[in-house]
Amino acid sequence: MSGTVHLVGAGPGAVDLLTLRAARLLGEADIVFHDALVPQEILALASKAKLVAVGKRSGRFSTAQMFINKQLLDAARRYAVIVRLKGGDPMLFGRAHEEISFLTKHSIRVEIVPGVTAALAASAELQVSLTRRGEARSVAFVTPRVGEGTAESSWIHAALAADTVAIYMAADEAASIALALVSGGKSPSTPVAVVASASLPEAKVSFTTLGRLHLLEPAAPALIFVGDVYREAAAAAAAAELLLRKPSQSA
Ligand code: SAH
Repeated sequence: MSGTVHLVGAGPGAVDLLTLRAARLLGEADIVFHDALVPQEILALASKAKLVAVGKRSGRFSTAQMFINKQLLDAARRYAVIVRLKGGDPMLFGRAHEEISFLTKHSIRVEIVPGVTAALAASAELQVSLTRRGEARSVAFVTPRVGEGTAESSWIHAALAADTVAIYMAADEAASIALALVSGGKSPSTPVAVVASASLPEAKVSFTTLGRLHLLEPAAPALIFVGDVYREAAAAAAAAELLLRKPSQSA
């Protein structure tokens, strides 16, 4: 027998941001291979499935991609409905390519179910549009993170060229990201928004500038946004903070 492997986007975390298709497939799944970032509430929808954690944070070491591919292949030979559940959307920084090409090479049927990617959930959190008529017409989704044995990333070129930049997997590299962007010609006064745990109750939004980004230590998972579209929101947040501080300073 050969089952179908569904690469399913779990969305940014909030269970009600899951697509109806994803929820239906989870209910039908015989086995679910999931990333560590997928919350329990979403996994609970896979009521009859065997759950296998394969994400980076699920163990002390990241489960090697080749091993995940092999597990998916073995599962496809034993079960009818296999779900590979990935945070956000599977087609963005989700190693979907490796899994699709490996499985199709072995004649396994693959289907993809899109999910809400983190940058879109974080933009909802910020209430700032990634694009703005007449001012911001290009958005780059980038990551400076390079996998072991892969070529140096050229993310910086895309980041310098775009009006708005959404930087994934950036939480522990904020200082070097800021340095790279300023060295590349962006002004240190360029507004920056940082969103951690978008869509979840513990979501946190912070504003700064490229010149001061090294002072922030965002909690993961976090996205760093860079662009002039964040200027008003950053100014409003700074004004609100000043208002809050005033009483204690005069006391
Ligand atoms: N495929 C995923 C991205 C995987 S890379 C997607 O489409 O969203 C993992 C990175 O996504 C994290 O390092 C972080 O930068 C971002 N991320 C994932 N969930 C997030 C969340 N709830 N809030 C903010 N950033 C998040």
